[in-house]
Amino acid sequence: MCNKIDVIDIIQQFSTLYPNYHPADIAETADAWLAIVEHVPGDMLKAAALQCSAEPGRAFAPSVGEIMGAVAQLQAKAASLPDAITAWAQINERPSWRAFRCPVAIDLMERYIHPGANVRAILADYGDHLRGCTACHEGTVLPNVHPFVERVARSFGWPERFPGDNPEADRAHFVRVYEQSVKSALAEAAQIPAVTQYIERISAGSAIKSLAEGMKK
Ligand SMILES: [Zn+2]
Repeated sequence: MCNKIDVIDIIQQFSTLYPNYHPADIAETADAWLAIVEHVPGDMLKAAALQCSAEPGRAFAPSVGEIMGAVAQLQAKAASLPDAITAWAQINERPSWRAFRCPVAIDLMERYIHPGANVRAILADYGDHLRGCTACHEGTVLPNVHPFVERVARSFGWPERFPGDNPEADRAHFVRVYEQSVKSALAEAAQIPAVTQYIERISAGSAIKSLAEGMKK
């Protein structure tokens, strides 16, 4: 976690970078910052401060809020959260089927590879069969998706019922919800410990707690 020296380093750097930035009392300013940033590792805080300073056209020193925004983005990168487009691609990767335990599926496959087979009809039968067969269903090997993507996708009914018959609409809906989920996850990660403790204190044993828990689901 960062300490007062880290924060003073950043403030001094800002005074050098921004001629209009002159905190009257650096130590006092650093204390005020610390109340907000003390849970952030020092090197991450410095990286986030630099990142904000590097924004093109920036004329004023970044606020603590802006730096915390950059911290949240760094944390997302560290957790390697995929962007919405990548997430959509991940859940659309074909699952592989391990249907070998199921005699019906084996029979369908044998018919499929038979020369002159009516491939379309067999694929349709196979699709119908997969929807109803628990043996095949249990053998489904899901594509490799990020756990965060999986959580969002499952809320849509993936992999059984999502994506559905209207991929364009499903994609738009998924992208919107996924981006919102990333935003909330980042906001949660950026929540400072004092606020978390406050929420825990006021909600302990109260109806608010069960409400908050209900909202988490
Ligand atoms: Zn089967």
